[in-house]
Amino acid sequence: MLFVSLLWLLLGSRAPVYALISEESQIIPSAIQATFGATVAWIIATLLFGRVYCATVCPVGTLQDLVVWSRRRLDPKHTFRYQAPKKIWIFILLTYVGSLVAGIWAVAFAIEPWNIMRSAASAVRPADIETTWQAIGISVGVGFAAGAVALAAILICAWKWGRAFCTEVCPIGTALGCVHSQTLMHIAIDPDKCISCMKCEDICASRCIKVSERLVDNSRCVRCFDCTAVCPNDAIRFQLNRGRNRQTPLMEPNA
Ligand code: SF4
Ligand code: SF4
Ligand code: SF4
Repeated sequence: MLFVSLLWLLLGSRAPVYALISEESQIIPSAIQATFGATVAWIIATLLFGRVYCATVCPVGTLQDLVVWSRRRLDPKHTFRYQAPKKIWIFILLTYVGSLVAGIWAVAFAIEPWNIMRSAASAVRPADIETTWQAIGISVGVGFAAGAVALAAILICAWKWGRAFCTEVCPIGTALGCVHSQTLMHIAIDPDKCISCMKCEDICASRCIKVSERLVDNSRCVRCFDCTAVCPNDAIRFQLNRGRNRQTPLMEPNA
């Protein structure tokens, strides 16, 4: 999906027809263009399966996965460990929504992942991006600089902390995560089968698994299924959400 998105962002109307799907499938462009098809589809998908959007069509998510994959290849001993949630995402989400409501588009553009990609791509395709930025009084140069800086920060964060941008910053992902207690399916650890080998916690780039408490924070889980793939005992599974339980509490205990 990253490849398709880059094709679209860099080539525009000269990109292959199938590249159209990259923009059409994004939540925010769909909402801004008032077509709402993709937006509604992803809301339904999120209510059924959680943040699958973050594991599939978002190019910024795929980009971070590539960085994490590269780090694992270069440093096989590198592991992630559980990180207690930081509440900064609440302020970022409120800032994002507030800026949209107030019509301060520059703020929203600066932190929304698809626009970060668009801004960075304006170095290659300024004419197509320029209208977006000109509409809010920002030059292409400033827009590109904002996108490039944001993208660089995301890549550095991914190298050091995995999907930290997705779990702590991104207003889209964190908004999707707000409905985690209502989703039909969730990731959970079976305490009777878990042998505390730590493999799932070590591999989770969202750093939302705490084996010692048999805890999976589904609000931050991006449904990559790396954890289910490495478990030697089929003890962590994607299964029906039966409501609140000890494995997936609505509110996290302190780390
Ligand atoms: S949290 Fe944001 S940046 Fe990360 S994958 Fe989801 S939408 Fe993309
Ligand atoms: S490793 Fe498991 S818990 Fe972590 S983000 Fe992926 S699916 Fe979710
Ligand atoms: S990988 Fe499976 S057995 Fe190992 S700690 Fe995780 S849930 Fe338990």
